[in-house]
Amino acid sequence: MLRIIRSLATRASPRLQDVVIIGGGPAGLTLLSALKTSPKLRHLRCTLVEGFSLEPVRNFQVDPPEQYTNRIVSLTPKSIEFMQKIGNWDYIHEDRIRDYNGIIAYDSQDATSRIEFDIGVTGKDTLATMCEVINIQSSLLTKLQELSDESTEPGFEILDNTKVVEIVSPPEAAPDLSNHDLNQPDPTLGNNKLDWPIVKLSNGEMIQSRLLIGADGYNSPVRTFAQIESRGWQYNRFGVVACIKLQYEDFRSIGWQRFLTTGPLAILPLTEDNATIVWSSTPELSSLLLQVNESIFPHLVTAAMVLEEVDLNYIYQMLQRDPNDSNAVQEIEWRLSKFKPSELDENYPLPAVKLIPNTRAKFPLKMSHADSYTAPRVALVGDAAHTIHPLAGQGLNMGQSDVAALVQALEKGVDRGMDLGSTLVLEEYTANAWPANHVLLGVCDKLHKVFSTDFYPLVVARGLGMKGLNMFDEVKGFMMNMVSGR
Ligand SMILES: Cc1cc2nc3c(=O)[nH]c(=O)nc-3n(C[C@H](O)[C@H](O)[C@H](O)COP(=O)(O)OP(=O)(O)OC[C@H]3O[C@@H](n4cnc5c(N)ncnc54)[C@H](O)[C@@H]3O)c2cc1C
Repeated sequence: MLRIIRSLATRASPRLQDVVIIGGGPAGLTLLSALKTSPKLRHLRCTLVEGFSLEPVRNFQVDPPEQYTNRIVSLTPKSIEFMQKIGNWDYIHEDRIRDYNGIIAYDSQDATSRIEFDIGVTGKDTLATMCEVINIQSSLLTKLQELSDESTEPGFEILDNTKVVEIVSPPEAAPDLSNHDLNQPDPTLGNNKLDWPIVKLSNGEMIQSRLLIGADGYNSPVRTFAQIESRGWQYNRFGVVACIKLQYEDFRSIGWQRFLTTGPLAILPLTEDNATIVWSSTPELSSLLLQVNESIFPHLVTAAMVLEEVDLNYIYQMLQRDPNDSNAVQEIEWRLSKFKPSELDENYPLPAVKLIPNTRAKFPLKMSHADSYTAPRVALVGDAAHTIHPLAGQGLNMGQSDVAALVQALEKGVDRGMDLGSTLVLEEYTANAWPANHVLLGVCDKLHKVFSTDFYPLVVARGLGMKGLNMFDEVKGFMMNMVSGR
């Protein structure tokens, strides 16, 4: 069994580790697995600290729920290749993932403005794969369990249900003494002479780490400790997620995204007749979407993919007065009946017929980017380093790329016999990962801004842009490569 330490031990002086990872989300667990499967880094002594219990994640491997959970992401082939290399992909519940081969994106202000992406443009098999976040985390924990079972000295521990309460610099840091070998401790070397950060945990323990990793999400305590500035803004929008049943299984295997002025609504395929939605919306609309009666909700999703915004606003107002008003369903059906069935079949996603209970949730949307991913003895990965609008489904994928780039930089450091917490080793990570992330963050931010407006000249310009883009395979290929992480 994984040695999960929940001891309440209180230590006078911190124990030493090579790497401490804060955060057991997808980025933190991927990094621990990548370190422990790298031939050059697996000797490092690592601790991962997670504030919440990972028990539900462990249970998912042996006893997954029948219905889908609601945190579902679109994984790029690049992220999947990386996880295949680590080996956790072998433990993914494959019956709960779904590849898709294209996206149809269209504008609520002009139904004829469409871009149809399909993999024909890229020459690849799959554009992306829908997968629950807990499926990814669970496969990583299982891989780590396998590594632990194979070795008498796996050299890592996972402390879940344990919060980092404080991170401090040692009082008498002496950077020139930091190169000593952990395996051969120098008795004359007091820990307080190291410049390694000290992490204080809610279980009373203290750990002093050669390299401290912040995989601790948007409010990263590690980023705050390292005084790395993060810049960005709130979108004043929420991403409402939910799992739905479609009228029947859609064998087209495509994702649909409609740009409404309140924000884009995406329907992405899951196995059989299941699908997941991400509906970026204003604070008022997102509250309504969570309140609306469960049986009305799927009709609202179908309406929002097809009807004019003026009609949608009328229906929203009805439901704002009474979220259980079933007359709203009749209003929607009457309006949809004006479309020819063949037009609906060909140009729109299948109707939603059921909301999977307890899958509605909303998340505030924001854009943020840390000025750097590293400081002396510190590195940030995943949402601790950046958060992005979900319209292109890139957040978790960017975290996977961060991990790949950080591991590469650390392996190079080992090859050169360098101290892994040193700026010289870590700076290469920022240099390799930051610029590409910055471009992606910028593109998604602009897309959000251009599409969430009904300012007429911009509506006309984007309509022309979408029609034009749709005719150029090379431009579409470039955008598809961005979406598929190639
Ligand atoms: C609506 C929506 C849709 C999305 N869709 C997609 C998509 O399709 N594709 C995609 O790639 N991405 C998507 N994302 C983004 C993706 O979900 C995130 O980028 C990803 O989950 C972040 O993972 P992470 O491990 O970096 O951070 P997190 O998942 O936030 O993990 C951070 C962990 O650190 C722990 N932690 C924090 N502080 C402490 C502390 N003091 N002590 C101990 N532990 C601590 C937390 O408990 C948490 O478990 C979407 C996001 C949203 C909101």
